[in-house]
This record gives sequence, C-alpha cells and structure tokens, in this order.
Amino acid sequence: MMTDNKTNPKKARNLSAKTERLSEKAQYDHLLADYPNIWKSASDAEVKKIMAFAEHYKSFLNAAKTEREFNREAVSMAEKKGFSSIDTIIALKPGDRVFATIKGKGLLLAVIGKKPMTEGFNILGAHIDSPRLDLKPNPLYEDEEMVFLKTHYYGGIKKYQWTTIPLAIHGLIVRKDGTSLYITIGENDDDPVFYITDLLPHLGNEQMSRKGTDIVKGEDLNVLIGGRPISGKDIKSDYKIAILKLLNEKYGIVEKDLVSAELEVVPAFKARDVGFDRTFIAGYGHDDRVCAYPALMALLDQKTPAKTVICMLSDKEEIGSYGNTGAESMLYENFFMDLFAKTVGEFDHISYRKSLSSAKMMSADVSNGFDPKYASVSDPKNSAYMSHGIKLEKYVGARGKSGTNDANAEYISEVIRVLDQANVRWQTGELGKVDEGGGGTISAFMSKYGLDVIDCGVPVLSMHAPYEVISKADLYETYRAYKVFIENI
Ligand code: MN
Ligand code: MN
Repeated sequence: MMTDNKTNPKKARNLSAKTERLSEKAQYDHLLADYPNIWKSASDAEVKKIMAFAEHYKSFLNAAKTEREFNREAVSMAEKKGFSSIDTIIALKPGDRVFATIKGKGLLLAVIGKKPMTEGFNILGAHIDSPRLDLKPNPLYEDEEMVFLKTHYYGGIKKYQWTTIPLAIHGLIVRKDGTSLYITIGENDDDPVFYITDLLPHLGNEQMSRKGTDIVKGEDLNVLIGGRPISGKDIKSDYKIAILKLLNEKYGIVEKDLVSAELEVVPAFKARDVGFDRTFIAGYGHDDRVCAYPALMALLDQKTPAKTVICMLSDKEEIGSYGNTGAESMLYENFFMDLFAKTVGEFDHISYRKSLSSAKMMSADVSNGFDPKYASVSDPKNSAYMSHGIKLEKYVGARGKSGTNDANAEYISEVIRVLDQANVRWQTGELGKVDEGGGGTISAFMSKYGLDVIDCGVPVLSMHAPYEVISKADLYETYRAYKVFIENI
C-alpha cells in the first residue's frame, strides 16, 4: 500500500534527513575528483555529433590502413581545404595553410596564426603507422604445391592473433626501371584475400602446451597466396612460377622487385560498430589513427588562429620512432625551421631554438582502456575507462618511468585549466600496474627541444590486435580536446 508523507510523519522525517545528507554531500563534491561516463550526461544533440563524427572516422579508417595511405588521404583532404606545399611559398602570413610530407610516410600541416612564432606555437602530434606484417625481402616460396609469402612482423603483436583471419596486401613496389606502383588487394568485396593457417585443435596438443609467445612462431607467419601450377608444364617450382607469371602480367614485376618493395599485410576487416547500442567501433589500427584523425580534423578546422598551430603525424612509432620518417628524424624539425624562417622573415638560430622551446604540444597516442576481464594488470584507480573521455598521462615509460618525458606540473595544470574551461571530459591514469610493463610514445623525442608536451589519447581495448575497439564518445571528446587545446593554450 502506498502512504503519503503528509500522513506519515516517520517517513517525512526520514526524507528530510536524507535531503540534509544529500546537501551535505553536495557541499563536499568539489573536493573530490570525478571522471564520469560521457554517455550519462550527453544531450541528444551531443550524441548526434558523436555518432556523425564516428561515421567519418570509420570511412577514413577503411581508406587509410597504412602510413602511406593516411598520408595520401590527409593531403587530399588538406588540399581541398586550401593547404599547399610549404616548398611552393616564400613568405607566410597569418591564415596561410601549408603542409610537408615526410617521404610520403609522415606528414606535417600548419595554419599560420596572428601572433609571431617567437611568441610560441601549438602542436598536435600522433603517429600513423600501425602494427602489421611486413614481407621479408625474399618472401616468395612454394611448399607442397602451395605458394606463400614470408613475413617479419612490425611492432608488438600477439602472433597467434594474426592467423585464420582475412588479410589484405597494401604497399609500394618500385620496379627495376624505377617506375613504381601502389597496390591494395583484399579490400574490395570481389578481391581475393590472403590467409595464415593455424593447426586444427584435434592435433594441437603440443602447440597448446607452449607459452603464448611460441604458440605461433615468427617464422610461421607465412601468408597463403596461391596453389595452382603452370598447367601442363613439368618444371621446378611451377607453383611459384605460376604466381610470378600472374604478377608479371598484372603489375609488370619480377621476383627481384620484391626486394625493395614495401608490402604490408594488414587485416582485411572494415571498421564496424560494436554493440546493440553502437557504443564502440572495432577496427584495424585505431592505434594511432584514432588520435591522428581527430588531430588532423582539429587542424583542418582552423581559420586564422591566435598562435600558429601544427599537426605532426609521424611514422615508425611502433618500432621506436627511428628512421628518416620516424619522429626522431630531423625532417620534422626542418619543417619547424622552414615555418619559422618563412613567417619571421629571417633565420637566426638562437631565436628559432627559443621559439621552439616555447611551443606547447599534445602527444596523442592511445592507451589501454580498463578491461574488467583483465583487471589484474591495471591499477583501477589509475586507469582510463571506456567512454570517460581523453586520457591525460603525466608519464608513460616502463620499469620506473624509464624512457618517458614526464610532463611538468605547471604545464599539466595549464592543460587541465584550458580543457576544464571548455567542459572537455578528460581522465587520467597509467598504462598498467607499475611492474606490469609499459610503453613509449613520441613525446620523449619532442621534449628534447625544450617544448612542453603531455601524453594523451584515446583508451583502446585489445590494443595491437588485428581488430581493436574504441568508444565513439572518447573519439569525439578527443577531437574536442585537440581543438580546445590548439585554440586556447
Ligand atoms: Mn601508438
Ligand atoms: Mn602502438
């Protein structure tokens, strides 16, 4: 039976005590840090924006699975928005929009601000390479009437995850005569796909008793690409030759051209929504395109910002940022120099160095989303939770913060103030438990210029797997964070 508070004094007393307790709690709310789930407070209009941004992101993921493809797509988007190569411009003025590609595998874009670069500038940095399988220099062989490509994996992977899934081959071949072609096979619905076999469970007793790193060995990541001989001919390697003949007819290449080729084997999956409620997106290479894409979008949105803003998208992060296309390469710095010289009008080394050291940067890279199934590897009080917004990380690194930038208190506080003012939802944490492992990003390399940089990014589930998962709310909030950062810091 229902009772009325007016006629039930005991219940009325309880209610007023409860209200008092509530207001007491509200009184202390500001003392506590709170990082709520975005979906709890998102308005209908906001949910619409989150979902729309996710649709564009998914199309971009499908069009740009490799660093070269990211570069190509981003340049084409930038050119449509009025960006031109920095090499074509002698002097830069506020509002100008320029880019430079780093050998087609890294990219820098800038929008010139109203203030001179000597008063500082803002950088968004992310990487556009993802874990994958690269072909060995001499990859092609036949074995028992089947033809395979040998691979060497790129980045940190669980090797067993790359068997028994549809694979595509993307990459650049430079022929003997110097002409080149870019191939993508396995992405269209009527394309063939490629495949790495695994052992049937019926005969898997010995395999399943090995430790995880050895269930599938590096030398076993061989991709099945064919199984028909040259008909009617009884020659040695007739299965391999049949494939070479096919490749020669279609692409004009011979076996030796594979020595120089950069062919990357990637999952043939398309990005898809996950869940009845479509909260998440599964896709290949969210790491780090889920940061690089919103960073690019935030930059392309800029008209004439107060300070000059730069987006730096680097290659080779997954193998340590080395090489002339990795973040350690001076080619990236050349762009900063070029910008400085072309906006300031003259180049003097010490002013340039001081200008660079006054820059502020967000180093955007994914982090592990807290997964309740694997809770034991994370400190729940210092973890990023799915749909709780962009994760700010004071430091990354491993084994006692080794190899990290470790951002300064003054700078972190400044970043937080700017994000809070715009109601950007952020959270914080570490990669995992102290002794559990760790990882590095490009921030340690950028901090050598003296600029202020903080690690941040989107939480990911199943990071470095062929098919990773992110939350659409985190993707959109990260885009907002980047925009707010470059416009206001
Ligand atoms: Mn990454
Ligand atoms: Mn990674």
